[in-house]
Amino acid sequence: MNAAAVVAFLIITSAYLELELKGLLLRESVRDLETRAYLVRDNLKDLQSPQQAVALAAESSGSRITLIERSGTVLADSEALAGEMESHLDRPEVRQALEAGVGTAQRFSETRRTDFLYVAVTERGDANAPIVRVAVPMQAISTRLNVVRGTLYITVGVLALVGFALSFVMATYMVRPMEAMRDAAQKIARGDYEVKLELDRRDEFGQLVEAFNSMGHELRNRVGQLESNRRELATIMDNMAEGLLLVEAGGNVTMANRAAAELLGVKDRELVGRALWESVRLPEVDDLLASMEKLEEPRRVWFEDRTHGAQRRVLQVVATPLFDTANGKQHAVLLVSDATEDQKLLEMRQDFVANVSHELKTPLTSISAYVETLLDGAAGDESVRIPFLRKIQVNATRLSKLVSDILNLSRLESGVGDESRQQLDLNAMAQACINKHREAAEAKGVQLSLLRAPQPVIALVNEEDMTEALDNLVVNAISYTPQGGKVEVAARRTDAGLQLEVKDTGCGIPAEALPRVFERFYRVDKARSRDLGGTGLGLAIVKHVAIKHGGRVDAESEVGKGSTFRISLPAPQPSVVRV
Ligand code: ADP
Repeated sequence: MNAAAVVAFLIITSAYLELELKGLLLRESVRDLETRAYLVRDNLKDLQSPQQAVALAAESSGSRITLIERSGTVLADSEALAGEMESHLDRPEVRQALEAGVGTAQRFSETRRTDFLYVAVTERGDANAPIVRVAVPMQAISTRLNVVRGTLYITVGVLALVGFALSFVMATYMVRPMEAMRDAAQKIARGDYEVKLELDRRDEFGQLVEAFNSMGHELRNRVGQLESNRRELATIMDNMAEGLLLVEAGGNVTMANRAAAELLGVKDRELVGRALWESVRLPEVDDLLASMEKLEEPRRVWFEDRTHGAQRRVLQVVATPLFDTANGKQHAVLLVSDATEDQKLLEMRQDFVANVSHELKTPLTSISAYVETLLDGAAGDESVRIPFLRKIQVNATRLSKLVSDILNLSRLESGVGDESRQQLDLNAMAQACINKHREAAEAKGVQLSLLRAPQPVIALVNEEDMTEALDNLVVNAISYTPQGGKVEVAARRTDAGLQLEVKDTGCGIPAEALPRVFERFYRVDKARSRDLGGTGLGLAIVKHVAIKHGGRVDAESEVGKGSTFRISLPAPQPSVVRV
């Protein structure tokens, strides 16, 4: 490209110079012919014969000389016979000479049959002075021009060569390193930081390349650092259980993590780059965003997520205002979390408090009513006093059982006493339990027996808790089994672990109530449970004891046929004794 421009420039310059030279040569020739013509004119006066004068002048000047009268008649010509020549009055150079003293013309000569340059002079003031015309063939000028042209082209050629050599040197030493650096800079701009330039020179270019490389190295380090920070942040964000969203004042989401999309029930890509209300139709969130501009401190909202089908889900959103001074934009960080469990716990606690109050209130009201009646005078009547005192005693016992069950349950939930476990034989525990309740069972006409395992069933248990759990199951079984029924307690070791089972032939539990019997204060038949002295907390305690021991409790039942409650425990790891 550059070479083509140089060549074009040289061609144009040469053509222009040639043109200029041609003009210069022509002007010089005209001046030369004019001088010769004046010389011939001056010499004419000394010579008698014009023919002689013309011949002499032509010889000495090497040009054609013509002597013309002012009337146009040719007096003499160095190359033709004057008598045979026509009038020259119409020749342009002659006419110009007559008018201005000097005339020039270029034209084809019929006499010599070639192109000539003519210059004619005369004395304007002298009416008799002849016109002296000097002519040279144009070829003579062309020959000179060719010589000059040759020199010109050689010079231009040499110049061109020097130019090319110079530009090659420039390209090698300056342009190429610059181009390499430009390309490398473009690569860096496109994100390719691995570019490295090599230039084994100690001059400024060498130093520049070195500086460029160290700049690239530094940039690579910085970008790598930034990238690893970004990845770290992205990993943290993507592995967070909470959803994180960055929202602009207009509601536009600029950043969102995976959990946010999952919790809000949308796809990742549907959140970022659009208004939150477009992808998530939750009025509570819309209200929160609408108040964002006035937001000065974190605000928290809970709402039930109805997009999750039948499953109830509660989401908590905490909006924290952020003021981005660099952009002058108001942002808010939204932290979304699944608060279903928290909400459940809260509701359970509220229910529990309400239930406890209710459960406590019933025996207390009875006690206070009996006491009041006795104080009102009934105390004096033996037939009333004794049964009333018995009723007060029953209610007080119920109260005491209720309080101790509540305390037990809260102790189990708090995890206190976990550490006091020992290896005990479940067979022996079951036997002890049966011994404890045999009398009550016999009194009710229920057969209570143990299905003893052939070998001890050793479990790592908290004796007090496990005894309480087993007692609750056996008491329930006796209570809900009518006279003539059977209650069988079994301890066994299976491939899956250890089992403690209490099986009865009692009234059974309806299928729809079975999953709920382990809930606190849940009773299938409230009145019956109360009459039997139940608190509604027995099975909840059993469940907690089982969980605390790393196991679980299951129930199977058929109405009218009986129920089976089974505590499954993990088998203790055999202790390794080093010898
Ligand atoms: P309660 O103190 O009322 O017995 P529990 O938590 O021990 O409370 O039991 C919850 C409910 O489960 C009881 O009210 C009763 O309706 C039912 N239930 C428990 N064990 C049995 C069983 N062996 N047979 C039939 N129903 C049972």
